[in-house]
Amino acid sequence: MRVNIILACADCKRRNYFTVKNKKNDPDRLEMRKYCKFCKKHTSHKETK
Ligand SMILES: [Zn+2]
Repeated sequence: MRVNIILACADCKRRNYFTVKNKKNDPDRLEMRKYCKFCKKHTSHKETK
């Protein structure tokens, strides 16, 4: 049930984080606030394919 996903900054669209999620626990598209080194601030990061 574990799938690899990429988290992309919502501001600059750069792909900053690779992670795994559990499809059972997170069936929807993940979104989390993380630090973006390109924006130099915390931004919303969304799961991308
Ligand atoms: Zn960014």
